[in-house]
Amino acid sequence: MSKKPTNEEHCSFCGRPASQTGMLLSGLNGFICADCSREAEHIFKEHNGAALSAAPAPAADEPIPTPTEIKAFLDQYVIGQDAAKRVLAVAVYNHYKRLRYNATHSEKEDVEIEKSNIVMVGETGTGKTLLARTIAKLLKVPFCIADATTLTEAGYVGDDVENVLVRLLQAANYDVAACERGIVFIDEIDKIARKSENTSITRDVSGEGVQQALLKLLEGALVSVPPEGGRKHPEQKLITINTRNILFICGGAFDGIERAIASRLNSNVIGFKGDETRAELDRENMLQYVQPMDLKKFGLIPELVGRFPVLTALQPLDREALRRILTEPKNALVKQYQELFRMDDVTLEFASATLDMVVERAVKYHLGARGLRSIMESLMTDLMFDLPTLPKGSTFTLTPEMAGEKLKL
Ligand code: ADP
Repeated sequence: MSKKPTNEEHCSFCGRPASQTGMLLSGLNGFICADCSREAEHIFKEHNGAALSAAPAPAADEPIPTPTEIKAFLDQYVIGQDAAKRVLAVAVYNHYKRLRYNATHSEKEDVEIEKSNIVMVGETGTGKTLLARTIAKLLKVPFCIADATTLTEAGYVGDDVENVLVRLLQAANYDVAACERGIVFIDEIDKIARKSENTSITRDVSGEGVQQALLKLLEGALVSVPPEGGRKHPEQKLITINTRNILFICGGAFDGIERAIASRLNSNVIGFKGDETRAELDRENMLQYVQPMDLKKFGLIPELVGRFPVLTALQPLDREALRRILTEPKNALVKQYQELFRMDDVTLEFASATLDMVVERAVKYHLGARGLRSIMESLMTDLMFDLPTLPKGSTFTLTPEMAGEKLKL
């Protein structure tokens, strides 16, 4: 189809000669240049998006899942974290109701139900992303994950904040209406905190700039994005996305925030109730007392904190939770390996003490549940290498002795 154009041939769409456009693709009766074919692709995508968005929204008479049902759904995938699940269940329930309300009421009507963007504070590997992912599964809305550390203010090296929406649009298959009901999970939100109030010489302006840019998305704005991402440039076709109904869930470890919480609580306690209440505080897990003002102290700008009405903390995972994570969730690691073995017609079993060893190792590495996967993988690799040679129909039990061998290092 492509051929080296002669000098008099020109693009049948923009009319520019081959000497200006470079390579031309030839059709039966004409040519197209690279710029016009890119433009055509956008138009097609936009058209498809428009066609899809004309599809009916979820039926208005379909019952909205109750918080209890939402929590029960989360329980199938996520172990523990009851407090966070309850908060999320209510936020999601309200998100549904809001979508329904806004679909039938105009912005001018008296009550405007505002969205409940969420911040989850918790150590790495405690299930923040998993909770957000599971919720998106339940809601059947487009979902994307962005990493706050890669975001920069427009004009700096890195990802423009608006590119978060491009990712959501891509997850929605360029269906703009679906994208506008989607969920964005922004991980490591704590990393764009401005540095502590005292270190004025190294005040990190770009962190604050990113927060300002994010604020615009969170507030609900019409944002024009280049459909393919990257930087906007003048000739580019842009797609406008209304972020009014997009739910933002942010997660972060907020390392060291315990100190801010503790000092706030201490001064409160001394001021009001004395030693009695101080004794009731769970010193091991200060995160559970987190309040919006602590996020401010940590370096999030007040306007941004104000845009996250829902704040919840995840518990560090103890041995018992890690042990349950190995076997209980719908897609628990143990179930996944058993399935892989079943495909080779071998039944895989784990001795209980073997799983305890895996948990001990994960605790030692301080990686939360994140460590479980890599430990299991190092345990299973050799076995899976030899799996095809095991007798069909046999049962293989992974004993603590075997595990001890593999986990020696
Ligand atoms: P975070 O976002 O808090 O750093 P993730 O949600 O990415 O952590 O968790 C990493 C992995 O650990 C997940 O893929 C999941 O398999 C497992 N995991 C973490 N917390 C839990 C939990 N509470 N219940 C079940 N699995 C969990």
